[in-house]
Amino acid sequence: MAQNLQTPCLLVAMAHPDDAELLVAGTLFHLKEAGWQLGILTMTAGDCGSTSIPREEIARIRYGEAQAAAKFLGATYICAGLMDVEVFANTKNLRRVVDCMRQFDPDVVITQSPVDYMLDHEETSRLVRGACFALAMPNYETRQNPPAKTGRATPALYYADAIEGKNPLGERVYPHFYVDITQKLAKKRDMLAHHASQREWLRAHHGMDEYLDRMTTWAAGFGGECGVAYAEGFRQHLGHGYPHEPILQNALAQYVHVRDGS
Ligand SMILES: [Zn+2]
Repeated sequence: MAQNLQTPCLLVAMAHPDDAELLVAGTLFHLKEAGWQLGILTMTAGDCGSTSIPREEIARIRYGEAQAAAKFLGATYICAGLMDVEVFANTKNLRRVVDCMRQFDPDVVITQSPVDYMLDHEETSRLVRGACFALAMPNYETRQNPPAKTGRATPALYYADAIEGKNPLGERVYPHFYVDITQKLAKKRDMLAHHASQREWLRAHHGMDEYLDRMTTWAAGFGGECGVAYAEGFRQHLGHGYPHEPILQNALAQYVHVRDGS
């Protein structure tokens, strides 16, 4: 997966299959159209995502769904092989995540919000933040067999909005900027629909297409904050040692908005 300046590479690193679709897929379709190389990494294969199907089987099903969804977008999908509800920022997991991320050697990384409704999401955020820092350190050994090549440079790091855009106390955490995904909403819904096991589960419980509709409701809510129909929100990690250039904002300039009244 070699990159060059003509084809920048973006990696979305999320906890579970379908998090990328729920949170950032509209933006991904914009970037695909702009010629970017795209990757999706999930920490787990979603082994707890069913109340009736055994762990190994639902993980296999959801891995397949994630792979098909990534193919629909035109992205490469890999899974770090961690377990649902056990995503923790520890040494063993960091080594695995760094190795997975080195396989992409991305210019830009999007991960989950540092504050979110679920610990798996917050710990993924911490793991990916740490992994970005270690990506290009030649002395950081992932101890995988065989290990991936050391990355070229620390990638620019962005955080997606939390699920529903809220922290664990239910308070809205506003993004730095929004991407207008109105033109890509239909594709985002189609990509999310690849996660049939999750969609059916919710449809059986709620009697309506809750899975696709609540994502659409969230995107409409974010859009309402910046004056467009549908949007996705992002914050850039601007700590010492990480690129501060607004790479994503520049690449998506025609779709980028700030919050109304800010
Ligand atoms: Zn998730």
